[in-house]
Amino acid sequence: MKVVFLDRDGVINEFPGNGKYVTKLNEFRFVPGTLDALRILTEEGYMIYIVSNQAGVAKGIYSKQKLEHITRNMLRDIHSTGGKIKKVFYCTHFSHAGCECRKPEIGAIRKAFELANKTIDLAQRAFFVGDTESDILTGHNAGCTTIFVLSGREDRRHMRGWKIKPDYVARDLLEATDIINERNLLRSRRRKRRALTVKSIRRRSTRKAS
Ligand SMILES: [Mg+2]
Ligand SMILES: [Zn+2]
Repeated sequence: MKVVFLDRDGVINEFPGNGKYVTKLNEFRFVPGTLDALRILTEEGYMIYIVSNQAGVAKGIYSKQKLEHITRNMLRDIHSTGGKIKKVFYCTHFSHAGCECRKPEIGAIRKAFELANKTIDLAQRAFFVGDTESDILTGHNAGCTTIFVLSGREDRRHMRGWKIKPDYVARDLLEATDIINERNLLRSRRRKRRALTVKSIRRRSTRKAS
């Protein structure tokens, strides 16, 4: 199962600014290249999930209905350009709520695998792409390969203070997509090589036996 988890603000759409939220449709703007990236990942057979903290709902800055409206439009644009999102997970609770769904907790990741009838240890083969330390921590907590993108809130200078460093740094989601595809290519080559080695060992041992 090929799986990618994506943060929303700063990865898919332009970061709205510190302490700010996307509260209406015209504040939602795709980061350039994002729609291409989502189409490529979809064509490559990835299950794509969005995992996003939207505490602005708990704070009463925008309603759940507004958030859903923005999401519907986002998904329509993604679908019309050949991308497919398996599911969008939002945490709409306060940061102090102590819920399982707010990053860096991994409630959403657990749920995604549960819904696919898979075990959470498959997260080790998944990727988590985000623009903040909290995203990288989330991916790390679940055992995913993490990719920090510079298209959002934080940059390389912020990264120096992080306890957990990302596995990769990319300019944006489009570049992260290249990294993901390359990583998977290497993995499948390694798998093939291993399969060949096993075969040749078997051949050798049967020759010895005869
Ligand atoms: Mg973000
Ligand atoms: Zn929550």
